[in-house]
Amino acid sequence: METTQTNKESIVNAAWNKRPLIISGPCSAETEEQVIETAQRLAKTGKVDMLRAGIWKPRTKPGMFEGIGAKGLPWLQQAKKLTGLPTTVEVATGKQVEDALTFDVDVLWVGARTTVNPFSVQEVADALRGVKVPVLIKNPINPDLELWQGAVERISRAGINDIGLIHRGFSSYGNTEFRNAPMWHLAIEMKRRMPGMLIINDPSHICGRRDILLSTAQKAIDLDFDGLMIESHIDPDNAWSDAKQQITPERLAEMLDEIIWRREDVQSETFHLALDKLREQINHIDDELMQLISQRMGIAEKIGEYKKNNNVTILQSSRWNEIIEKSIKKAGKLNLSEEFVTKYMDAIHMESINRQNRVMND
Ligand code: PEP
Ligand code: MN
Repeated sequence: METTQTNKESIVNAAWNKRPLIISGPCSAETEEQVIETAQRLAKTGKVDMLRAGIWKPRTKPGMFEGIGAKGLPWLQQAKKLTGLPTTVEVATGKQVEDALTFDVDVLWVGARTTVNPFSVQEVADALRGVKVPVLIKNPINPDLELWQGAVERISRAGINDIGLIHRGFSSYGNTEFRNAPMWHLAIEMKRRMPGMLIINDPSHICGRRDILLSTAQKAIDLDFDGLMIESHIDPDNAWSDAKQQITPERLAEMLDEIIWRREDVQSETFHLALDKLREQINHIDDELMQLISQRMGIAEKIGEYKKNNNVTILQSSRWNEIIEKSIKKAGKLNLSEEFVTKYMDAIHMESINRQNRVMND
């Protein structure tokens, strides 16, 4: 059956507006058989809304598999025909936008290595002028929200109305648990800046490994993300790119069943009354905390005056060590983590130093 233009649009629209939106497919399209079998096994789970596959792969070093190129686009077209799943592909140049659209790709995405580069984002945006296609924008590899927001603005100014965000974590030097540090607070800040904009999480590129995919996806759902993009492969260990983080379509289905799906809100009066009461208590405590911190800063300023009159340095390491050690000991007893207390005390200390600095140099 031929799908008409309006029919096609409504299928893509339905997927785009579905919550949670689940996108899956291989890191890279490798062969026609691999793309089609992945799509069929994903479709069979009944839990996936859109098929992803990398056609052009931006690789960190030359000599790695750089994607099958435009020759893989008809495979995606065929996979869509067989399964009804709309498709999405990463684009980084004007030519790639053109090729993807020629072969009927339904949703385009801008990759993390492209979002960092305003020249590339602008080139993609220029190629999108006059076209009606939804675009997903991954966060840049470096933790710079202005670049992420800038990319949204460039694509939006090109006339694209359906724009969504993909949080895939940020590069960091050295070994951590994650391939790309999630820095959840940045995604939360982006949500605050772009209210109502679709934002999904990509735990595959955050984790870089399978064993922590589920807990990362759960965290995203707990933080009210609108969906997930998770890489899947029919033979993950032998994938041509990102082998360590890919899972089979069947494992994906299991994982999606294991996730506890949460709602942002429920329509229950008792729930809201209980919540309001607790929030009232929190507001009250926050007020008191602010008052106390303000008092503490006042005392720090007084100390600053004494130091100024006696020509003593602001920072006295031994005193600071004593405060930190005491706080950490106390934290354990109060059920507060050492990490939190250290961060909190550091922030208080920096503010005290700034205040004393002002007193001493005014
Ligand atoms: C990908 O999705 O396969 C990819 C290259 O991701 P990112 O741009 O997040 O590195
Ligand atoms: Mn990948």
